[in-house]
Amino acid sequence: MPTYKAPLDEIRFLLEEVHDVGQLAALPGYEDMTPDVLLTVLQEGARLCEEVLAPINQAGDAEGCRFEQGRVATPGGFKAAYDAYREGGWPAMTARPEFGGQGLPHLARFVFDEMLCSSNLSFSMYPGLAYGATALLERWGDDELRRRFLPKLVDGSWGGTMCLTEAHAGTDLGMIRTRAVPAGDGAYLVTGTKIFISSGEHDLTDNIIHLVLAKLPDAPPGTRGISLLLVPKLLPTEEGAAGTPNGVSCGSIEHKMGIKANSTCVMNFENARGWLVGEPHRGMRTMFTMMNGARLAVGMQGLGLAEVAYQNAVAYAKDRLQGRAMRGPQNPREEADPIVVHPDVRRMLMTMKAYIEGMRALAYWVGLLIDVAGRHPEAARREEAEDLLALMTPVIKGFCTDVGFEIANLALQCYGGHGYIREFGMEQFVRDARIAQIYEGTNGVQAMDLLGRKIPEGGGRLAKRFFALAEGELAAAAEDAALADIAKPVAEALRTLQRTTGAVMSRALQNPEEVGAAASEYLRLFGLVATGWMWVRLAKVAAAQGGARNDARLATARFYVARLLPQTAALSAQIVSGAGPVMALEASAL
Ligand SMILES: Cc1cc2nc3c(=O)[nH]c(=O)nc-3n(C[C@H](O)[C@H](O)[C@H](O)COP(=O)(O)OP(=O)(O)OC[C@H]3O[C@@H](n4cnc5c(N)ncnc54)[C@H](O)[C@@H]3O)c2cc1C
Repeated sequence: MPTYKAPLDEIRFLLEEVHDVGQLAALPGYEDMTPDVLLTVLQEGARLCEEVLAPINQAGDAEGCRFEQGRVATPGGFKAAYDAYREGGWPAMTARPEFGGQGLPHLARFVFDEMLCSSNLSFSMYPGLAYGATALLERWGDDELRRRFLPKLVDGSWGGTMCLTEAHAGTDLGMIRTRAVPAGDGAYLVTGTKIFISSGEHDLTDNIIHLVLAKLPDAPPGTRGISLLLVPKLLPTEEGAAGTPNGVSCGSIEHKMGIKANSTCVMNFENARGWLVGEPHRGMRTMFTMMNGARLAVGMQGLGLAEVAYQNAVAYAKDRLQGRAMRGPQNPREEADPIVVHPDVRRMLMTMKAYIEGMRALAYWVGLLIDVAGRHPEAARREEAEDLLALMTPVIKGFCTDVGFEIANLALQCYGGHGYIREFGMEQFVRDARIAQIYEGTNGVQAMDLLGRKIPEGGGRLAKRFFALAEGELAAAAEDAALADIAKPVAEALRTLQRTTGAVMSRALQNPEEVGAAASEYLRLFGLVATGWMWVRLAKVAAAQGGARNDARLATARFYVARLLPQTAALSAQIVSGAGPVMALEASAL
């Protein structure tokens, strides 16, 4: 069975030394949130992940969810694990204190999310959706909705979902057919069928709060006519108990490639009572609070699975004896050397390590931006953080999940045939990692969001902020003799990214297909450069502090620059070749 140990030393290094989370305590409302407090909370979270959630991950995959007469049973151990999660107060982590929350910084949740996903991705999605629903209601719910629903979401006794997708409307939500008609008493009656709804029905909570996209009778066509409704599975009593059945039922669950212990449901709404959240026809804007949070959380799924797959691959590579080292036997008392001596196995392990540590630094930087954007007393700092957060959201979602899948695959490869069979659990990581590239907007859609929307936004304001920040740090590091060999190639890659951005943007003025043809490679290019920038930050601290662990960080930074960063040149060449080669054939010739 695979094992998981939360990388607490690495987390502490990033929070304290690299990203200076001490600054959080200067934000209003976070006065008590010193690094020590955060690390103590995260240590407790690590224990839950290591001792309760990781041990039921493989069995949960083998057993899967069961659907019987409209009800979904989660695999053995999931209910007890959820109770432990709830009793530990984890649903309340970042929620506002006035609704029973603990008011912790969002960064802490980000880090905890990584650990949850490493230990048990399927499990993480049950409370994860409730967490998103909580954030949405805090921001957009009226007083009555907040009073009735938030305390139960925050104490974990009720779950949440996001109901967007319909059979004929996935990426193109403008085509949804679910309707909401006024009931005459302020409520609406919601009718329609949603598919692929994660955690739509299960046995972990007393009630489930569905956030449903639907169209009102007077809705304009397309995405401008979508409204958001809160539809509970059970209609709560005035006293706050779960209450009586609403017109909501689960029609079936999907049989799928991975995350088998998380229920993926067809949800039927038949004149189900619901309440409008936010303004009529502005549901996409409202839902984006949940979707942006979910996109970042899905990025953490990529990182979390990469980490656990890597941990197991390293342990296996040190244990498995096959062949002799090219430099001569390293383990002469045995018949063979451990496979970790082979350069090709090292290549795989170093690739995983360099991506993971760099991506983690990038993800936590973005996590910190959420708190700065939400609470910094200076408007200019809040606006800067908001811009960077908007820019980085598709990068975290798309890059971390694409790379997360590649890493799970590399980890499987380290096991040879033993990775392909079930026993060692590596094939589960590959299957589980695959969905993260698809849901919450496919990675193609994330790439279009980055290049088609975020880069041109405000005359390039978001991108300029990113470029200025990275450029300044890289230029300073390039002057430092201890860092120059790392910082200079990253600075060059940043210039490549800037040049490529300019080239695509000017071509897009002539041909809008240029953006679509370039987007996926562009997102990868952006992710590689941003991760490289983070490696320079890590290297700066490592060089200043010294010691064996920091020497290893510097060596890993050099590996990143030598072996991974050069992809940027090829990506740029692919991008500037334009839409022509991509669109050359008629569809009939494909
Ligand atoms: C396990 C699982 C869990 C899920 N959980 C949820 C959930 O909780 N709630 C929910 O609402 N949904 C959920 N989904 C749905 C998921 O978000 C959608 O599957 C996803 O958004 C893609 O929609 P689609 O499957 O209809 O694919 P399509 O939209 O048909 O896309 C097919 C392909 O075409 C591409 N494409 C489509 N339009 C464009 C375009 N304009 N430009 C470029 N490329 C395009 C896509 O990138 C993709 O590669 C889940 C799905 C799965 C499999």
